[in-house]
Amino acid sequence: MRLIDGHLDLAYNAVSGRDLTLTLEVLRRVDPVEGQTATTTFTELRAAGVGVCFGTLFALPRTPDSPQGYTDHAGARAQALAQLDVYRRWEDGGFLRLLRSGAEVNAHMAQADAPLGVVLLMEGADPVRDEGELPFWVDAGVRIIGPAWGATAYAGGTGAPGPLTDAGKALVTAMRDLGIALDASHLDDAAFWDAAEIGPRMIASHSNSRTLVPGNRHLSDEMACAIAERGGVIGLVFLSSFIKQGAETGATQGDLAAHARHYAEAEVVGWDRVALGSDMDGGFGSEKTPVGIGRYSELPRFLDEVPEEHRAAVAGGNWLRWLTAYL
Ligand SMILES: [Zn+2]
Repeated sequence: MRLIDGHLDLAYNAVSGRDLTLTLEVLRRVDPVEGQTATTTFTELRAAGVGVCFGTLFALPRTPDSPQGYTDHAGARAQALAQLDVYRRWEDGGFLRLLRSGAEVNAHMAQADAPLGVVLLMEGADPVRDEGELPFWVDAGVRIIGPAWGATAYAGGTGAPGPLTDAGKALVTAMRDLGIALDASHLDDAAFWDAAEIGPRMIASHSNSRTLVPGNRHLSDEMACAIAERGGVIGLVFLSSFIKQGAETGATQGDLAAHARHYAEAEVVGWDRVALGSDMDGGFGSEKTPVGIGRYSELPRFLDEVPEEHRAAVAGGNWLRWLTAYL
């Protein structure tokens, strides 16, 4: 089964000093990142059968926990450009192939010996100076943008409620007109509904259900429905605290499947909207992934929790349909 993962922070990890071209065993021996046991390398993704992932350009803002983060547009842009360069060097080295259209995704998925395919997704839009700069990022290969992470110049985000700003409305309007999809993961509710009204293509690359874990990081049923009504797909996140309320560690694969079943069976959106958005390398390590999935090559075990008739769709078919239709 070929998998498609809607959310991985590959280049962010590389910029953090991780060489993802190593095997996981070797990376773990030399890993400069402390406190987060690495789970994801190119060999792990290949072993899991991942054909395509959405690879982020993620600019980290300055916080008490991240003094190296950006404080202005120029700093955010520099981080995103550095990560773009990482993807390009990996492509030059044959480790991945950047995909820019549905036709390219289809051809890629049909090629058995292809390297990892990557669709670029910008997580947090502060690297974009204003909507006039969007064509530059489209030329660079970016096909999906999430306006928020925490709050950005464009939108209220996780733990930082607020609507789209005036700049955010202009950005989302231009995204709609240019055919750039909007990633609703991390958008605060107020910003989400502002964006939905403007009407871009919408997905949630990595978002579990708020009915099981409270908080604005997760999708309400109404938000999930709005994404589905716009043809979108929702990726399941493999982080314990996003799977089980109060569980910093130790959520089970069954706990994660409860999110999938809620989306799919509680008359919310259906199995054809549920997919993977693991975020397995997104600022946490194997300490916080579901029990039994301590490394990326073990991720397909989760699919055993999905009803057999929907397994291929959740593994990759739903994202493939979306990518083919809209990219
Ligand atoms: Zn994220």
